[in-house]
Amino acid sequence: MSVQNQDAKSGEAAKVYFADLRARNHHDSKMSKVARLFDAAGFAGLIRKNGLIAVKMHFGERGNDTFTSPVFARVVVDKIREAGGRPFLTDTNTLYSGSRHNAIDHLLTAYEHGFSFATVNAPIIIADGLRSNACGEVPIEGKHFKSVKIAQGILEASGMIVLSHFKGHEMAGFGGAIKNLAMGCATAAGKKDQHSIRFTVDEGKCVSCGECQRVCPVGAAIVRRGEKAKINAERCIGCGECVTVCRVKAVDIDWTSCGSGEKAMHDFTERMVEYAHGAVVGKKDRVGYINFLMNITPDCDCVPWSDAPMVPDIGILASHDPVALDKACFDLVNQQAGFHSSHLSCNCEAGKDKFKGVWSHTTGEHQFTAAVNLGMGTTHYELVNI
Ligand code: SF4
Ligand code: SF4
Repeated sequence: MSVQNQDAKSGEAAKVYFADLRARNHHDSKMSKVARLFDAAGFAGLIRKNGLIAVKMHFGERGNDTFTSPVFARVVVDKIREAGGRPFLTDTNTLYSGSRHNAIDHLLTAYEHGFSFATVNAPIIIADGLRSNACGEVPIEGKHFKSVKIAQGILEASGMIVLSHFKGHEMAGFGGAIKNLAMGCATAAGKKDQHSIRFTVDEGKCVSCGECQRVCPVGAAIVRRGEKAKINAERCIGCGECVTVCRVKAVDIDWTSCGSGEKAMHDFTERMVEYAHGAVVGKKDRVGYINFLMNITPDCDCVPWSDAPMVPDIGILASHDPVALDKACFDLVNQQAGFHSSHLSCNCEAGKDKFKGVWSHTTGEHQFTAAVNLGMGTTHYELVNI
């Protein structure tokens, strides 16, 4: 059975293959469904014989447990081998100082989270090298960038299968395939290019807990004994870590530094989408995408925890088109009634935007407009149940 979305204006619909999570026998296990999605989407046709195929993952920050499981990566690796490719699992180092800031810490975190040759049947290669210096400049015709800084290991892969956990994000609104390409394939310098928003602290709300200072990668958030937090705008790189950890929501975007709120968020989103475009512009018809609509948390897997999900688990989806895939996921999440016991502060009703219900300042849906404008895909999709 297939269903087309109604809100697309015109143009050919991209196929998005969907597997729900019901199971009463082995054939319906999630592993079996990942393999069937790979086949239904025709991903074997993307694999060149003996081609080095990147399986783009997010290995999860230490403390997070809702990253995409190595169990699913193993299925994809085996399917790539079956199609004649030579797979490797990959991700890039983070901008902030966490458990994945350089390739050594990153690999150790991946091993702790169950990713190893023994479990996934493929080597793990950090695509931007030991300290994120393995970088290639990709020329693009963007509104914000004329070139983007992409990890060498991504550029040199002959094809890519992108596995993304679809969930909320404090800056992007939501993170799916587009964000996995954008931040996930950029070097640290490229990640910095994408963040140019600055933040400020509402002293009336701040309880001087010191959490923002603890997580700030560049020492820009400062909490002196007996005083409220302050952010040094000269040092701040706009990574948003302080927003995520502040429990009393005292950190907000410094709108005075970046024009109107909506324009600032749109600019951030457009920069991100231009990086996503640059990550795959040289790989036409050689990239496939699988999104996991499970454990739909308010935060990215870059945070060292996993909050309760906002909505029930929904399914697993695959497509050649990252825009159609993310749009289908966005719609499926928002069709659900939200959990009142989650971080949602509003929009719990079915049909309301759950991502705005947790991050009201974000304009995540602008990812779709920006990606369509760059020719990355279409928001018009046909959902095909497998
Ligand atoms: S995390 Fe929030 S409450 Fe804690 S010191 Fe920073 S701004 Fe203040
Ligand atoms: S956004 Fe916050 S955590 Fe990131 S650099 Fe600026 S002050 Fe530090």
